[in-house]
Order: sequence, then structure tokens, then C-alpha cells
Amino acid sequence: MKYLLKILVCACLALHFPLSTLHTQELPQGYFGSPLKGDLGLSATFAESRIGHFHSGLDIRTGGAVGLPVLAVADGYVSRVSVSPWGGGKILYIKHPNGYTSVYMHLSDYVGPIGRWVKEQQYKTQSYSIVEDVPEGLLPVRKGQMVALSGNTGGSAGPHLHFELRETGTGRTINPLLFGIPYRDSMKPAIRGLRIYPMVGNSIGRGYDVDKENTATVDGPFCLGIYATDAAEGSTPKNGPERIEVYLDDELFFMYSIESFVLENSRVINALVDYPVFEAQRQGYILTRALPGAEGDWIPVRQGDGIFRLAPRSRHKIQVRAYDIHDNVDERTITVNVSTSASTTQGHSATDGKAVRYSEVASLKHPAFSAELPPYCLYADDRLATTCRMDAGYLSPVCSIEPVINKIPPHIHYKISIKGAVPQGIDPAKVTVVRINGKRVNAYKTTCEGGYYSASVRDFGTFALLADTTAPTVRAVNFSEDKRLKSKTLRIKIGDNLAGVDTYNCYLNGKWVLAEYDGKSATLFIDTTGKLQGGKNDLRVEVVDGCGNLTRRTFTIIR
Ligand SMILES: [Zn+2]
Repeated sequence: MKYLLKILVCACLALHFPLSTLHTQELPQGYFGSPLKGDLGLSATFAESRIGHFHSGLDIRTGGAVGLPVLAVADGYVSRVSVSPWGGGKILYIKHPNGYTSVYMHLSDYVGPIGRWVKEQQYKTQSYSIVEDVPEGLLPVRKGQMVALSGNTGGSAGPHLHFELRETGTGRTINPLLFGIPYRDSMKPAIRGLRIYPMVGNSIGRGYDVDKENTATVDGPFCLGIYATDAAEGSTPKNGPERIEVYLDDELFFMYSIESFVLENSRVINALVDYPVFEAQRQGYILTRALPGAEGDWIPVRQGDGIFRLAPRSRHKIQVRAYDIHDNVDERTITVNVSTSASTTQGHSATDGKAVRYSEVASLKHPAFSAELPPYCLYADDRLATTCRMDAGYLSPVCSIEPVINKIPPHIHYKISIKGAVPQGIDPAKVTVVRINGKRVNAYKTTCEGGYYSASVRDFGTFALLADTTAPTVRAVNFSEDKRLKSKTLRIKIGDNLAGVDTYNCYLNGKWVLAEYDGKSATLFIDTTGKLQGGKNDLRVEVVDGCGNLTRRTFTIIR
């Protein structure tokens, strides 16, 4: 499949066929129905740019509501259930006999035998969070059967259904709209921004907008950044386009179209956009230039390395087209004038930091700080600048590690170690590595060895040590000791000052009871239906933070 896709991409390039036409012949058409009743409206399209990942499916609008029936898109069986306070929240996987698995996320609940089975597992493991593979034959489903209710669980920013179709064998996620699921879109995409990025040696300089007259003057090699969005009837107006094409003097120079990808590769999006702008403004300017560590079978198609190298004193036409799934297109043509001086490519002047190769291990050592990056942590050779300074506010020097050339977060985790200056009386188990980002401080799971505190991180930036000796907070929201209970669902706010909530357990009259934890609102929900005795009941709540600080609170519930 993987190679087939690549061959198809090449064939398309040669023949100038729209990609989707060829691919849809590969994928079963009309096999899968829609996971919700009514017309599909999307709040996010497939492979849309997100910080740290391509959007891995469709976000289907539910009109701001939770509790809409979610339907199995084809016959099959429930193959996996995953529940978490974060990420996809309550997730359902259905395996279909034709080699694909459908995935449904942010559900508010599972229904029927699926719901009963999930609760059983949660009570068996005494955990709200579960990841369980379901044996074949246990929970069969029919096409169109209601399997769950839509919701807003996990990292969802508002009620919607996140829906995916994955190749079962490889886990590769594929744009569900390529399977012919009906979707109305007669509105054309919008190219919202075009930027010229002059090359400074082998790195990109600061980008500037192509002017309103669609002309640009360059004096050396450059790459192009394209920011485009798509709208459709019933969809939000700034979804991602399906495909971007760039033509240089009528010849295809660059094509960006992600119809499927392996989830583990998703973070590479950071290297395909102007990352600092993406992070600050959430506008993903897709860059034509290539970085060697960001290649894969999802790569954009390019001429060479995607950098325009045009002869001095020449004039060229660059055409940019943004397509949606139904090949509605927005087009912008710019004229590029190359100035007389164009020819010199200055080398990168940076001498800061240590030169590192992206395909090799990089070790950086200071007396108080060290970092070890595995191969392919970076997307290209770079220089890493490290500094340490004393700061009385922390239990260590404050140390930073930053790439000098490509300001993109690392692709994979790497290890940092910081030497502690931890006063007597502070338990080393309560010391945690933190990243300082303006006023925000994030803690990492930390280990201690010989006075050095280590953590596995996936960011560059500024790091130091702090101690978390404060136990989590636990507060009743909708019930009190002296009043009769009004709601069947108890709500309890839990929180922690630094290391974050690690475990939470609730016991009703001495017995473990399921508490659903919503990470984004820091709230526990306990459904008491059929669980309360008349008069007084005892609810014990135990919350432990990432540094092992425990809060145990007992509430009296009056029925
Ligand atoms: Zn989504």
C-alpha cells in the first residue's frame, strides 16, 4: 500500500491528474456510511496542520450538542476501547472485514452491551483510564447501529465527533472522504497568505508577504510559504485544504497533499511549516523547501530541495493553487523579479553553540547540565546553543538548550539532566524538572541519580528544578455535608500546583466507585445511580500528584 501510494503520487505528477481521482479507485467506495445522521459538516479536515501533528481524521460538527447517536459505519466488531481524561477521551475502534478500522473519539458514552463491557473493565481494573483490546466475536456491530453517543471528552475544545478510517494492518490513517462518504463542498478554498523566505545559507530567513499587486523582488535563492484554508456548506470556514500546488513558469514545482499517513510520523508537520509563525499565530505556512529529516512516504512532491534558484535579472511566473476534496480551486499568480545582484548565497554566519548532525547522537555537557539527543531528533544538521545561569528562585541553575538554525521542536524525546542545589530537608523525590515558558511552568516525570535530576523531554527551551511538596486540592462542587443531594452526578474539582494530578480514586461507603475525570476542566464526575443508601453515605476521595503528595478527603453525602 505504502509503495503503491508513492508510485501513484509520481504517476500523478507526470500526468497532471488530480490525485484523488486515482486514489479513490484504490479504496472501497460506498462501503462505509456516515457515523452521524444527516449531512456532514466539518470543523476540521483530514491532515490539517496542528502544532505537533497532522489532524488524523475528520472533526464532524454536532451543532454544539453532546449525546448525538454515533453509528457504526459498516458491519464489524468492536476491536478496542480506550478511555482517557486527555487526548481522544472515550474512543471506540470497530474492525471491519474489508481491512479497515473505524475510530470514533471524544464520545460522551458507549451504549448497550459496549457500555456495559467498558464499565466492567473499569471496575475490574479500578481505573477510569483503560486501553483494552476486545476479543473478536464479543461485541459485533451492524452497519448503522448506534454504538455510542457523541461528546466532548478528552482534549476536545467543544462538542464534536472525531472520526477516522485506518488501514487495520498498518494503522495508517486515511482521509475518510476518499471512501466516498457523502460530503457537500461547492465552496472554493482561500489562499490567505503567500510569503517569500530568502535563504540564508541553508536555512530560511524571515519571511515577507507577497504584495497586493502579486509581485515580489528577490535577490537570491528563496522558498515559498503558503497559507490556505477551505470552507464548505455547513462546515467551519478555516479548515485545511486538500492539496496545494505550486507551478514555476507553468511547470509543477511543489505539491503538498496528504491523503494518508502513519500516526507515528505525524509530528513532522512542525518541520513542514514556518514553525515560529505557526506556534505564535496558528497559521500554518507550508514551506516548499525540504529538510532531510522530515522526509517520508507522506512527503510533498518537489523539484529538487524545494528552493527556488533563479537566474539574476530574470522574471518568472509562480502560480499557487489550493484545492479542496471536490477539486474546487483558488489560484494566485505572482511575478517574481530577480535583481541584478542575485547569485551569492551567504553561508550561515552562526557560530553559536555546537554543530550537530541530525542523523547522529548529539551530546552536550556542562558542569550542571547535560543533554543527549538520539539520532533523528532534529530534522536537519544544526547548531545547539546551551547556557546555564544561577537563579535563586530554583533548586538548580536555569539552563537552556535551543537550536540556532531551525527553530523547530525535536521530533522525538531526548534526555536532559540538571545538577540539583537542593537544600537539606527537601525530599529528593519531590524535586521535579520543569520547563519555564514565560509565566508557564510545566513539570516532567523526573528521576534522580547522584545529585542529577533527569527527565525525558520533547521540547527545547529553558529548564530548571523545583520541588513540589504541596498536596493536590479536592473540592466538592455540587454537594455539601449538610444538604440533601440534588443531582445524581457528584462533581468534584481536583487540582495540583506543579507536578499535576497523577492518580485519583474514589470510594463510596468503602467500595471503589468509578469517577470519570475530565482533564480540561479538572473535574471528577461520579454517577451515583443505584449506589447510595438512605441517609448518610461516605465518599472518600484520594488524589496523588506526580511527586507522590497525597490528599485524602472524606465527604458525607446525604440522600
Ligand atoms: Zn479531531
